[in-house]
Amino acid sequence: MHIVLLGCPGAGKGTQSKILAARHGIAHIATGDLFRAEIAAKSPIGLKVADYLKSGTLVPDSVVVEMVAGKLDAEGKGWLLDGFPRTLEQAQALDKYLAQSGGRIDLVMYLNMPDGVVLKRLTGRRSCEKCGELYNLESRPSQAEGKCDKCGGDLKQREDDSEATVRKRLMVYEDLTRPLVAYYRSEQVFHEIDGNQSAEKVTHALVDCIEATEVKR
Ligand SMILES: [Zn+2]
Repeated sequence: MHIVLLGCPGAGKGTQSKILAARHGIAHIATGDLFRAEIAAKSPIGLKVADYLKSGTLVPDSVVVEMVAGKLDAEGKGWLLDGFPRTLEQAQALDKYLAQSGGRIDLVMYLNMPDGVVLKRLTGRRSCEKCGELYNLESRPSQAEGKCDKCGGDLKQREDDSEATVRKRLMVYEDLTRPLVAYYRSEQVFHEIDGNQSAEKVTHALVDCIEATEVKR
């Protein structure tokens, strides 16, 4: 089973990916983790990536695809991609790569939420200054406003989660994702899942989708 999970920021894509991969016995391939592992191992591709990150430039599609492709080869039992592809170019390169090796994507799921909800979730994130515990004004509020349940420390918002920064991130995300979604939507394997419901319900919807696809295969 070869799955791509797309999702807007704040939709809980990383958490859901882990649950699904464990449940279905397939590899969870998260590009962010791959980057970190290759850099830590000082592999040839890791050194390349580290150079790009140091200079503050985006890692080129060709390098990302090379890295992910190397990983896919090693995973015979199936995989779920989380955080990749991020652009139309990456999606096309992935299809080309899979076609060469006789594989294909069985299912693309897109975890979507209305902008207003994403904004609320992301700007609602707070973390404890003292112990780092994470909270969310929406989904996981602390018992006393502004204070950590565990240690009583002050809760702060990260600069990344300010409304202006989140709006900017969403704009960049949408610009990249719109063509990607259009590309996958034209294929039969595309499913959109409502991310604006409890995490358990989202997991259910994703599992249903995977099981329906398994039956068809
Ligand atoms: Zn704390």
